[in-house]
Amino acid sequence: MTSPLFNTLFLLLAGWSWMTAAMALELKPQQVTEGVYALVGETGPRTRENLALNSTMGFVVTSDGVAVIDSGATPGGARLIEQAVKQVTDQPVRWVINTGSQDHRWLGNGYFRAKGAKIIALKRTVETQKRFAESHLARLEGLLKEQAEEITPVYASPPLESDHARFRLGDTRFELIWFGDAHFPGDAVVWLPEKKIVFTGDMVYVERMLGIQEISPVLQWQQAFHAMERLDPEHVIPGHGSPCDLEKARRETGDYLDWLVTRVSAALDEWKELDETVDELTDAPRFKQLQHYDSWHRKNINRTYLQLEAER
Ligand SMILES: [Zn+2]
Repeated sequence: MTSPLFNTLFLLLAGWSWMTAAMALELKPQQVTEGVYALVGETGPRTRENLALNSTMGFVVTSDGVAVIDSGATPGGARLIEQAVKQVTDQPVRWVINTGSQDHRWLGNGYFRAKGAKIIALKRTVETQKRFAESHLARLEGLLKEQAEEITPVYASPPLESDHARFRLGDTRFELIWFGDAHFPGDAVVWLPEKKIVFTGDMVYVERMLGIQEISPVLQWQQAFHAMERLDPEHVIPGHGSPCDLEKARRETGDYLDWLVTRVSAALDEWKELDETVDELTDAPRFKQLQHYDSWHRKNINRTYLQLEAER
């Protein structure tokens, strides 16, 4: 039944449908202020069609070239970022700054490095990138097939030793700051002090619910968020979702972390069991409008409980 001809036709059609889907994908630069742009990827899950670009990235146009903030998960994704940059400037991408170590923050580094860009990241971010590179690549291979085969992990070398690095790129001042581990160990934010803009990476999620993973230390994430707030940014470019003000970031990330820690701590004080706590806290009307509430909220309570219990 499955003749070689049939197989060939099938592969051609499958390849064609994938190619047209990938070709249809485009990142549109959203201007935040002069020279600063957000690239807002989908807020749904990673798919073959979105090349795992289900995150928010961005770039800054300086007097001397462009600094990209986070390089996407694949060379194909990095190319989309580059095309988005070309929509607003002829300047080349000369620097890539990584805010984190999850696949879509840095696995596109190799694409830009091959074109001469310098990769910039903190040492503790690079350490986590190295720790998870193999498992993230394996998961992407399962999802993206041949797209993932082109990925070569490329790291900032040497990485920045400080946890609060200050540097100038062209005419623009940058700070790369670690306030504490958040979604992943070593998550950092990019702060533009002259423009009062922060690119938060995975520390801030808006529109969709953040995910406490096994390696996301909820107490540190909460403290890191509140430390970041003290920068008093005028604009927040989150790691997931659209650019916003600090108020919205607080409502949808900071308040939720506070809520999780406060409610779960109270349950532990009363010696409540895990299942009982998860059931009691499942209904949280304040956060119900966030995308993925149904799939993430119970898991977040669960992981918060286990982490806080272990600290007692
Ligand atoms: Zn992410």
